[in-house]
Amino acid sequence: MNSFLEKANGIMDEIVAIRRDIHAHPELGHKEVRTSALIREKLETYGVDEIQSLTETSVVAVIKGKKGHGKCIALRTDIDALPVEEETGLPFASETSGVMHACGHDIHTAMMLGNAKLLCEMRDQFAGTVKLIFQHSEDTFPGGSKELIEQGVMNGVDAILGIHVFPTENDKCGVIGFREGPFTTSADEYLFDITGPGGHGSEPHKVPDPILAAAEMIMMFQQVQARAIAPRDTAIFMMNKIQGGKAPNIISDKVTMVGNARAYTAEARKTIEEYVYRIAEGVEKISGCKIDVHETLGYDACFNDPGLVDWIRPVLGEIIGEDRVEAFPDPMGFSEDFSFYSTLTGVPALFMILQAGTMGEVAPLHNAHCSFNEQAMPYGMAAMTGSAIKFLEQ
Ligand SMILES: [Zn+2]
Ligand SMILES: [Zn+2]
Repeated sequence: MNSFLEKANGIMDEIVAIRRDIHAHPELGHKEVRTSALIREKLETYGVDEIQSLTETSVVAVIKGKKGHGKCIALRTDIDALPVEEETGLPFASETSGVMHACGHDIHTAMMLGNAKLLCEMRDQFAGTVKLIFQHSEDTFPGGSKELIEQGVMNGVDAILGIHVFPTENDKCGVIGFREGPFTTSADEYLFDITGPGGHGSEPHKVPDPILAAAEMIMMFQQVQARAIAPRDTAIFMMNKIQGGKAPNIISDKVTMVGNARAYTAEARKTIEEYVYRIAEGVEKISGCKIDVHETLGYDACFNDPGLVDWIRPVLGEIIGEDRVEAFPDPMGFSEDFSFYSTLTGVPALFMILQAGTMGEVAPLHNAHCSFNEQAMPYGMAAMTGSAIKFLEQ
């Protein structure tokens, strides 16, 4: 067995205990007080070189290699939980009503503490620095990564790696998958207020009709994908909430609708944004209604650096076995604030998926029944610790 995997397996009892402790005590974004205290305590025990608190509930650890100066690689985990009432029935299930680690960030955090322990033990094997980022509030908007970047967390960092568990059938447990280029979507929201004076249903010629205007806008938005986005690119823009109208014989005075836009490239995302305003202005003119747009720009899309992808494939093959490294043909449909570590700084980044099995029926992330097989953890730790050391050896 490869030495990184052997070492990761050797600390599993401790890491599983930490994982179950964190799982039983989940905390929402920006409220990770107990979790960050636990992280700090463990990092002190393992003897990292530096512990930074750039925001109230995040923790950043610095580990320096004994072979001298060199590059700096960052490894990132998220530490927050979700407002979900756990229904897994596991013996270490959440003890906090209405809060659950339903996105696996408990596993991420425990694995990252494992990385800290292993890297401290293996200091004499590398030059340069490993920065471990325990990021708060990934699942609660606006996301903790931006705050950490503003506080300088990426200063001096040459590359950053992130990994996310994903519930799967157990035969996939411990297999790591990723692809080059776009990997997760951006996620933006557009709210439209369409208003008119309202009127009598028998006099359609006298007042503008917000419901008709809304219908026209919805149909026009569906053409953006077909006519404004390049065929090789893709985007989603769906109006997923609409409210309006009072009675069959009253011309409505207001319609409110909210759309959700997702894209893998900055170009497609920008195109949607442009068309939102063009269509709103156009329909406003034609319909005579007043149309206000309120936009909430969410996370950027994650882009996996091609150079890092080419480099890490054989490295991971050596560390966890070639049969445990999978090339994903398609990007993921969700969004992640890991993207900002690269888009806001230009630092090359790689985000990976650790397929993590299940402890029962496979339930999706963010679901009350979501569970993972802890046997995936040594593969995640070996992959991250091993890649960090091999990156610094280059
Ligand atoms: Zn999540
Ligand atoms: Zn997550």
